Amino acid sequence: MKAVAVFPKSRTVELIDPPEPGPPAAGQARLRLLEVGVCGTDREICAFEYGTPPAGCEHLVIGHESLARVEAVGGGVTGVRTGDLVVPMVRRPCPHDHCGACRRGRQDFCFTGDFRERGINGAHGFMTEQTLEEEKYLVPVPAALRDFAVLVEPLTIAEKALIQLWQVQERLPWECPHRPGKNHGHCRRALVLGAGPVGLLGAMALAASDFETIVYSREKAPNPKAELVAAIGATWASSAEVPPDALAARFGAIDVVYEAAGASAVAFEVMQALGPNSVFIFTGVPGRKAPVPVDTDRIMRNLVLRNQIVFGTVNAGRDAFEAATRHLAEFERRWPGAPAALVTSRRPAEDYRELLLGAPVGIKNVLRFAGNE
Ligand code: BGC
Repeated sequence: MKAVAVFPKSRTVELIDPPEPGPPAAGQARLRLLEVGVCGTDREICAFEYGTPPAGCEHLVIGHESLARVEAVGGGVTGVRTGDLVVPMVRRPCPHDHCGACRRGRQDFCFTGDFRERGINGAHGFMTEQTLEEEKYLVPVPAALRDFAVLVEPLTIAEKALIQLWQVQERLPWECPHRPGKNHGHCRRALVLGAGPVGLLGAMALAASDFETIVYSREKAPNPKAELVAAIGATWASSAEVPPDALAARFGAIDVVYEAAGASAVAFEVMQALGPNSVFIFTGVPGRKAPVPVDTDRIMRNLVLRNQIVFGTVNAGRDAFEAATRHLAEFERRWPGAPAALVTSRRPAEDYRELLLGAPVGIKNVLRFAGNE
């Protein structure tokens, strides 16, 4: 069996040959991994900047964005059957009785930090041919989504953000007047920072809710990502042409910023373009660089005088995974071919070095194991 593993002590990334998992125990399923997405987190783990092997283990099998087929189920498993497509959730709860979030199945809001994440923190991941998983962490996926369901996990970031956005905005009369044929964001404007997979999936989620959506990136149009943005009815804006302080004059007051670039300097500049009663959502995790000067008085004045909210969001619960599964199907209905266009390459496991250690290319790159169909 093959798996891609990181060895932090010897600072190597290798294709290893771990033992095959045995039969699934009660409550478990054995999975055959069909596709595993590569993201910035994986690349950071492979640069030894993030991630932790399981306790007592020298290596960590990476991979947390995945699509799998159920190969066998243990006793008492009723929610999935052999042959089903599933996406496993990533985070596992901490062991502490006093963590109300983990005890209620909301480990994405763990209080203690002692959670584990498959392929990231303290638990092997899915960049492997086979694995075992508890039924309760599996999200069933319709067969019709086979070609792009590997995007479910990265889409959960936007789904969790949007669930919270609507909850947070219940603080005021923010909802749009009912318009037949329009979804509930139709009177609001959203700016997405960054045009990587998280940004583009966020843009699709916002556009599908009928927000007027602008994707803000360094690159100038025309380019393939800008074409995709146009295809979903959103607008491309390049920071080389519209600087952050010109955004509000160009597009009008911004109601939501969905940050997906992981660059704090530009994020805090864009924050100053936020309109009244707006929300700024951070999803990126910047590397630690030198401090960046920001106009804190201006930001604080705006936050107070314009009733603004800033929140960060990480990981996702089952509600967001299920929403992602539904919405990918909706994206495909609305913009045929757009979800599949995000998957720009599918490579054999043997190409792991290029994908994980080489220069980033395309949008979402996916790794496959020969024979896993
Ligand atoms: C993953 C999340 C995880 C986060 C922090 C992201 O790349 O999608 O599941 O919680 O990294 O480790």
